[in-house]
Formats: sequence, C-alpha cells, structure tokens
Amino acid sequence: MSNIPYSCQNITDDDIESVVATLRSEYLTQGPSIAAFESAFADRHQVKFAVAVSNATAGLHIACLALGVGKGSRVWTSPNSFLASANCALYCGATVDFVDIDPTTRNMSVQALARKLEEAKRQGCLPQVVIPVDFSGLPCDLREIRMLADRYGFRIIEDASHATGASYLDKPVGSDWADMSVFSFHAVKIVTTAEGGIVTTQDAKLARQLQLLRSHGMTRDPGELTVAPEGPWVYEQQLLGFNYRMTDLQAALGQSQLKRLPEMHRSRLAWARRYDDKLAQLPLVLPMSLPDRVSAHHLYAVEIDGERTDRSRADVFAALRGMGIGVNVHYIPIHIQPYYTALGFRRGDFPAAERYYGRAISLPLFPAMTEAQQDQVITALGQALSH
Ligand SMILES: *Cc1c(COP(=O)(O)O)cnc(C)c1O
Repeated sequence: MSNIPYSCQNITDDDIESVVATLRSEYLTQGPSIAAFESAFADRHQVKFAVAVSNATAGLHIACLALGVGKGSRVWTSPNSFLASANCALYCGATVDFVDIDPTTRNMSVQALARKLEEAKRQGCLPQVVIPVDFSGLPCDLREIRMLADRYGFRIIEDASHATGASYLDKPVGSDWADMSVFSFHAVKIVTTAEGGIVTTQDAKLARQLQLLRSHGMTRDPGELTVAPEGPWVYEQQLLGFNYRMTDLQAALGQSQLKRLPEMHRSRLAWARRYDDKLAQLPLVLPMSLPDRVSAHHLYAVEIDGERTDRSRADVFAALRGMGIGVNVHYIPIHIQPYYTALGFRRGDFPAAERYYGRAISLPLFPAMTEAQQDQVITALGQALSH
C-alpha cells in the first residue's frame, strides 16, 4: 500500500519542453508567452479579457483596487474559503465581513446574502464589493447574486480559484455574471504554473486597470500619456501599482497545461462520479450536483454525518492518514482565525460554515489517480467509519 496524496500536479514532457523552450528564448519575463497564455485562457473561457498575474491573491488584490475598494469600503465574502478571499480587501484598507454558506452547496448562501443586504440597507452600510467563492469548483449562484448586485449596487469579484474548467448555465465560469473572476494556478490547483493566477473580465476598462496595477501603474502607450513625451523612452506612472507579473516560464507552462484542461476535467469528473457511486452507502454527506452547473472538482469534500456514525471527523481523519491516505480539511472558516477574531469576529458568527468545517474531509482527487488508488481510499474510509 502506497501513500496517496490529496492532490498532485500533472506535468507531462510537453509541459517540460515548453518551459525549456522559453528558457532558451529571448524572454524570461514580459515576453510573448504572457499574451499567448492570456488569449488562450480567454478563448477557452469565452471571455474578452484575461490578465495574468503572479498568483490569485495578487489578482484578488488588484481586482479590488480596480473597483475602487479602499479605506471606508465594505467587502463581503464567504467564510468557507482560503484566507486570500478576505485578505485582499484588507490590503486595500477596506472592512471585511462574511456571508454564511448554504450547507448543501457549501458556497455563499443567496438567502443569507439577501437578508444581510436588506439589513445593511436599513443601516446604511451596504457593501461595495461581494466576493463569492466557487468552493471545490462548484460555481456559486451567480445569476441570483447578479440580480442582488443590480438591486443593491455592489460589484462582484468571483473567486474562481477552484473553478478552472467549470461551467454555469452552459457557459464557462469567468465569462458572465461577475465583474471579474480570479483563477489560481498554484501547484495543487487544476491547471498549474507553480505559482500564478489570472483575472478575466468582459470590461475593457477594468482589464486595462488590471494591466496597469500588475506592473507599477506604468504605461508606455503614447495614446495614454498625460504629458507630451520628451522622447520615445518615456514611461509614465499613473497610479500606484505593484510587481504582480507572471513570468514567461510560467505562462509557457500554463499554455501547455491548458491544452489538457478538457481531458483533465473529464478525468476529475469521472473520479468524482465514481466516489459518488461507491460512497453512497457510507454515513457521509457527499458533494452536491446541480443540473445547471458542472463542477471543476478541484476538491472532493465529504462530511461525516454525525447522525449516522459516532466516529468524529478527527477520528476518521487520523485513521485515514494512518492508512496512508492524504486527506485534508478545507476550510477552517476565515472568521475564526486569530487575526480575524482580533478584528471582532467570533465563533458562532457563521454557524453553517462552522458546522461544515467541523465535519469536513477532502479526499484524494487528481487526474492521474488510478482505480486501485481510489479503491484504496474507499476501503480505508469504510474501515475508518466502522470502528
Ligand atoms: C488557492 C486559493 C487562493 C489563492 O491562490 P494563490 O494563487 O495561491 O494566491 C485564493 N482563493 C482560493 C479559494 C484558493 O483556493
């Protein structure tokens, strides 16, 4: 019996060759691979613009800035996410709050959002931006969130870090509904550039803001200069940006990986269906499927159903790790992190996210997994739950 990781990057000889070819080329960064990767990603996601960045956290940060988030702004996100979904707003000096999850989808609850907006409207403290998260790769209820955005006047940044390859209402995630969608290419994610991210949008002005913000707020475009240039060397800094650029090595890897996205997505889907089938009899709550969306299956997260077993999550987790199964837990609700409790959040503030966290385990799922490995996980889980 071998150890099985919860996730594992999928690197082929073609991936390696495309990085090596870039290493031998003229540009290691700020070269042609970036634009090629951006346009391939935009095509695949049926969206006009894609802006590659150094990581998704950087993408979330500049997406907030592009929407004018700053001191005095309010940003709401899901507590069932990675820290970056909330930290990005704090970087801008904004105030963060959370909207509890729907326990069936584990994504931000539209009902909870609608209630909280109504309350905020009465108190005059509506958010400027809401950041829903496609947890595990299952697209959130973006059509309903868009209706609320139009009604209450907030903008939407979709944290689609888990959702490369997912679709919602028959279109790829990242194309419609949100003002911007942010994807991650961290090594454990669906497509990887080791570290990296991309922001998609249909809005040319936002795309240009993102391009400026990722590289020092600096332009060389003669049409954009505010002062008549002294010479062809002139560049102008027009706002306070950062160095959040992706390298050409990363973009070359991303482009090569992206070619295999349909095939990698198909195998994730097949492994997820097989888990659905083989785990149905165990005392677990399995991930939800919905007819109007296709998950990217970045994670396969199950909940230990306390009504049908007396085994705790901690018991099951320890037993699985003991049997060489690389399980994980996603996520500790952001608001109970010490940094956030110091800001005034408390346990009990978002009970659905906390209850989910108390019962959740992410099982191994990655394209190159074998049937034998998956069977090993299923058998181990059955044993862990039965004694
Ligand atoms: C991975 C992840 C991020 C951050 O991505 P990086 O590319 O590592 O910065 C943000 N949000 C979610 C939901 C993630 O899973």
